[in-house]
Amino acid sequence: MVPIGGTIGILGGGQLGRMLADAAAKLGLDAIIFCPEADTPAARTAARHWEGAFNDDEALSAFARACDVVTLEWENVPVAAAETVAATGTPMRPGAKALGVAQDRANEKRFLEACDIPVTPWRTVDSAEALQSALSDFGGRGILKTRREGYDGKGQLRLGAEADALDAFSALGGQPCILEAFAPFEREISVIVARTPDGETATWDVPENIHRGGILRRSQVPAAITPETAATAKAAAVRLVTTLDYIGVLALEFFVMEGGALLANEFAPRVHNSGHWTPEACRTGQFENHIRAVAGWPLGRTELVAPGVVMDNIIGELPLLADLPDGALTLYGKHEVRVGRKMGHIVRLTGL
Ligand code: AMP
Repeated sequence: MVPIGGTIGILGGGQLGRMLADAAAKLGLDAIIFCPEADTPAARTAARHWEGAFNDDEALSAFARACDVVTLEWENVPVAAAETVAATGTPMRPGAKALGVAQDRANEKRFLEACDIPVTPWRTVDSAEALQSALSDFGGRGILKTRREGYDGKGQLRLGAEADALDAFSALGGQPCILEAFAPFEREISVIVARTPDGETATWDVPENIHRGGILRRSQVPAAITPETAATAKAAAVRLVTTLDYIGVLALEFFVMEGGALLANEFAPRVHNSGHWTPEACRTGQFENHIRAVAGWPLGRTELVAPGVVMDNIIGELPLLADLPDGALTLYGKHEVRVGRKMGHIVRLTGL
């Protein structure tokens, strides 16, 4: 267990690291951010910043030895970096196993299926011919996704009846991909789940997530789903973290089909944008419970403190403060505004 006043290392320097570092500070812990960039949202607010590359074993080991536990805020931290940290004897939470599964969409789908969590029909695609044959299996439509490094709709192509397999495969760089059947879902939801080293788990109310252009725009609670669907989704997420022997917070995303059936889309081995409403709307938020979990502390209670909540992302612009609706504002401290870049979010409690 990390002692009071101890040190948490965080691999990655973005807004998730910044909010984790804030949560650590609130619990009396020091956060050290390890990332290659000199000036990042998390590096500017954490207790310390350790500049280093994720493939620099010497720097990573020295950093890990300065920490009581190391966690991450970016799911593409190389598996080898997680192994280097663990080799120093400092616990790496979550560990290399969860990263290895989550970083490859084919591994991820297989793991979900092995946990009895249904996913959309999918095929591995390593060539234009393989894509052609997978497309004909799925009635000529589907979503082509790179196996690695896709996020916020990047590394993805929607293919319709007139799609040319050769063009599509080369448009994604000719790299290993999967083709997913198009899921005609009614809505999207996610489960945010936390698990401690002792196997204690906690989930939050299930948010409904609204995407535009592959990017999350809004999460709201309650989701328009039945209690049974919510319970099935939560049970699946708990099964996933238990099977992975996972420590920390994880987010599992689902498509809700007509009639309430659930198909898992993907999971993120970290705190998640669709849980950004939890600090303001729940007794304990995802960032605090992630820190508690990786520190080996008991989890805080997760019930809502309001009947409902809406979280809107601020994307690709910094609106005038006067134009924002009333609500709890979080800005990530990014100096450069870019199209599609997440700049902050605003949380409004509803039904009070
Ligand atoms: P992903 O990066 O896999 O989370 O995909 C981003 C978004 O694209 C999802 O949240 C969905 O809105 C949409 N999407 C992804 N895969 C599918 C699919 N198989 N069928 C329909 N929509 C999808």
